[in-house]
Amino acid sequence: MDVLVYDTKKYDRETLCAANNDLHRLHFTAAQLNEQTASLAEGFPAISIFVNDDASAPVLERLAGLGVKLITLRSTGFNNVDLETAKRLGLTVMRVANYSPYAVAEFTLAMLLALVRRIHRAYNRVREGNFALDGLQGRDIHGMTIGIIGTGRIGAIFARLMHGFGVTLLGFDQRPNPACVELGMEYVALETLLARSDVVSLHVPLLPETYHLINAHTLALMKRGAVLINTSRGALVDTEALIEALKTGHLSAVGLDVYEEEDGLFFRDRSEQILTDDVFARLLTFPNVLVTGHQAFFTQEALTQIAETTIRNLSDFEAGRRNENTLT
Ligand code: NAD
Repeated sequence: MDVLVYDTKKYDRETLCAANNDLHRLHFTAAQLNEQTASLAEGFPAISIFVNDDASAPVLERLAGLGVKLITLRSTGFNNVDLETAKRLGLTVMRVANYSPYAVAEFTLAMLLALVRRIHRAYNRVREGNFALDGLQGRDIHGMTIGIIGTGRIGAIFARLMHGFGVTLLGFDQRPNPACVELGMEYVALETLLARSDVVSLHVPLLPETYHLINAHTLALMKRGAVLINTSRGALVDTEALIEALKTGHLSAVGLDVYEEEDGLFFRDRSEQILTDDVFARLLTFPNVLVTGHQAFFTQEALTQIAETTIRNLSDFEAGRRNENTLT
């Protein structure tokens, strides 16, 4: 099958070609999918997209008009696809429901440790010959209360990692996970989790009901001095409200691997350009904020699994089979 693979970097091309084994004819473009670039899909029955490609209703209308039948996402999250419109247009949408959840869970832990022990600051200091410890005092994670919002695949592994530190685990999820209960996690209301946790980590998908889940109101419910980590999706957090909470010292540290306006910013080298997003620029000024560019998924194991699952999705679609990744 001929497939147009949008939004590809060198590492996508390498892993997809290795997984493909000449099964499909993969055509790569660095272009992101949007209303303008949808026309590139003319003549392709299938396309593959990534997290910041725009598969909103007008784009889907164009794709369907060009004869596209399948959109397969190289991600778990699918908040960038208007599934209702896809269904109405008869477009099949698939994703990678299950690739190394360890990649994201372990990255979340890395962010937490870096922030709590000030490693991001120590790294720079030592390189400049400053070995003073003032300002680098950390806290033991042992004994903390860790609140995990969303205890699916990634949240549950993060819970297991945290369990090893000797912590109290609180969870908030509409479907409690027995594996977390077994670790001793107590499921509580969101307000209770926010009020009791020293660390709050977000692992729910971005949905209309989780949009700005962390906002001025919910931030105010958090313990003074708490740490917030978001490795899920940027728009779970109202960034302007977060900046206010940081300015008052309400939060002691924040780790963000995702940002609500990351589209057009992340996944590219912009070091020669002026940063025009003042909200993002303000975030970078806080010494207790660690921002990374959506790299939590980025391990060798995860990339290989994403590529292999994408190829399997293409083959299953071609053979008329639905699988666990089929969304519509
Ligand atoms: P999952 O589906 O296994 O788990 C999500 C959990 O959230 C489920 O247990 C579900 O019941 C719960 N949930 C959903 N809506 C909820 C709501 N309104 N209130 C409370 N709980 C709710 O997903 P996962 O594989 O653990 O991935 C979680 C998210 O991580 C993805 O949706 C994606 O946005 C993000 N992610 C980020 C990266 C990255 O590189 N930073 C990589 C992969 C995934």
